[in-house]
Amino acid sequence: MDRLAIESYFESLPKFDQDSLLTSLSNIKTKSDFQLLEIRETQFNEKQGVCPNCSSIKYVKMGKDKGVQRYKCKSCNGTFTPYTGTWMAHIHHKDKLPAYLKLMGQGLSLDKICKELSINKKTAFDWRHKIINSIKDVEHGEFIGITESDETFFLHSKKGSDSLLEKPRKRGKEVATRGISKEQVAVIVSTDRKGSVSIDIAGFGRMSKAAIEKSIGNKIGKQTILCTDGLVSYKGFALDNSLEHHVLRADLKQFVKQGKYHIQHVNSLHSRLKKWINKDLYGVATKYLQNYLNWFRFKEKFKNRSYIKEVITASLTNTKAREEYLCS
Ligand SMILES: [Zn+2]
Repeated sequence: MDRLAIESYFESLPKFDQDSLLTSLSNIKTKSDFQLLEIRETQFNEKQGVCPNCSSIKYVKMGKDKGVQRYKCKSCNGTFTPYTGTWMAHIHHKDKLPAYLKLMGQGLSLDKICKELSINKKTAFDWRHKIINSIKDVEHGEFIGITESDETFFLHSKKGSDSLLEKPRKRGKEVATRGISKEQVAVIVSTDRKGSVSIDIAGFGRMSKAAIEKSIGNKIGKQTILCTDGLVSYKGFALDNSLEHHVLRADLKQFVKQGKYHIQHVNSLHSRLKKWINKDLYGVATKYLQNYLNWFRFKEKFKNRSYIKEVITASLTNTKAREEYLCS
């Protein structure tokens, strides 16, 4: 049966049958996502892993740890499982992870995820931040060719940072970019036309040259052509780095120059980011904002691929994740 035949069969079904078929297909999908989590165990069983302690490939099976295969390293004598050091170490209810990753991929708020999976908010929060933390360094490439960069602002929010939990607040409230105050957190978003994206907190109030340097200084090269608004910090940054620089001034109705120099991709990233943070997640504490920015970047980067597969693959190769998380 080819895909067209399947689609036309689907269309011929009564609506009720369509809905129930979609539900069971989605369950099959979740199951295959769960198998992804087991890939790592399979790899270790087939001697394709390394000791997370000393990177030796000489290890033997040694019993089980809460149902997961345990190994003993013949070089350093340490024991480990396929998840030692990763964010999945010491996580209970691993059976709920595939569904959790799926809902997280949909960008749902913690409340909605907790309700759907019957887990408590502390657990949902911990999982979320453990996962995000372990993928923060994934694929930061150099910007090639036309590279758009621009700042956007979020209201400073202390809410939730004491209790570790985000709280509904200032739902959908827009931040005016006129009259930037110290109460606003600047976020610098940069992207080239090949899909490299960086998103970083650039401090309170207007963005400085140093903040730009910190965010994209090590991602630019001879081939980078910078497009920005008229912010003077960008001019300084471009001069310092001898970059070709095209300034678009919206106040002079300069939106596109020579048919290709503009900052419309980055501005569209801004609006998606703001909608997600302010409306879908009801705002997040500034303390955790960078984490969410990292997550958003990852989502953008892999939006056309199997998102869950990318998250699992990328996050489980980080065997320093647990340590980093506990120290953050
Ligand atoms: Zn070892």
